[in-house]
Order: sequence, then C-alpha cells, then structure tokens
Amino acid sequence: MTSLEPSIFSRIVAREIPATIVAETDNVIAFRDIAPQAPLHVVVTTKSQEYANVVELAAGDPALLAELVAVASQVAEELAPEGKTPGQFRLIFNTGPESGQTVFHVHAHVLAGTFKEGSLV
Ligand code: 5GP
Repeated sequence: MTSLEPSIFSRIVAREIPATIVAETDNVIAFRDIAPQAPLHVVVTTKSQEYANVVELAAGDPALLAELVAVASQVAEELAPEGKTPGQFRLIFNTGPESGQTVFHVHAHVLAGTFKEGSLV
C-alpha cells in the first residue's frame, strides 16, 4: 500500500518537517520519535516510501531491510540511555492499523532504557 502523497516521514527525509536526525545512510534515516515511549525512542525508516510495512519490505527488498536493521543497531550502540548497555534494544515494526501502525511507510521503533520483565508491551 503506497500513497502518491508524501508520507510524514518522506517530508522529514526532504527536510520539509524538522526532526532530530541521529543517523543516515543513502537509503535509510533515523530520527527521534516526536512522542517518545522510552528513554531512547528512535524511528528508523527507508528514505523511499515504496514499502508500507516490514512484510512488504522483506519480500521486496531484503537487503534494504538488513540495512534498516543495521542502522537501528548502530543507533542503539551510540545512543544507549545512561546506565544501560549499548546495543541492547527492542525493535518494533507495527504492521497494520490494528497493531497501532499509523504511518504506512515502513519503519521500525528502536526502544531502549525501559523494559518490564516478562512483558512484551
Ligand atoms: P506507528 O504508530 O506508525 O508505528 O509509528 C509512527 C510513529 O511516528 C509514532 O511513534 C509517532 O510518534 C511518530 N511520528 C509521527 N509524526 C512524527 C513527526 O512529525 N516527527 C517525528 N519525529 N515522529 C513522528
């Protein structure tokens, strides 16, 4: 499901909307979530909005998915919250509206610094 309208993330890529960008490659960009849910909460997305979700991306361009995961890992290494182990993080791809996905431009949430033992949510 791709839209002809630029997504909010495409507008961040184009620097039409300000964001705190923390990492960038030719194909992937990472920026602080505007409504953080954890001490570290970064959105990692593809610069292209060709793929709406991780399932489409994995099927269509697995190398790009691997690049996105590598950027997520780099961010978690470099920006670990105070007192937390660098490189330990949650990687969440909401997939579909009933999962909480609101932006249909594939992206991962990198979360670190809070973890409730035994809970996935
Ligand atoms: P989703 O709910 O689709 O998995 O995640 C979308 C995320 O994008 C949300 O966590 C939301 O806070 C974040 N977001 C939405 N609009 C903006 C924005 O304009 N700037 C930034 N930095 N994050 C945004």
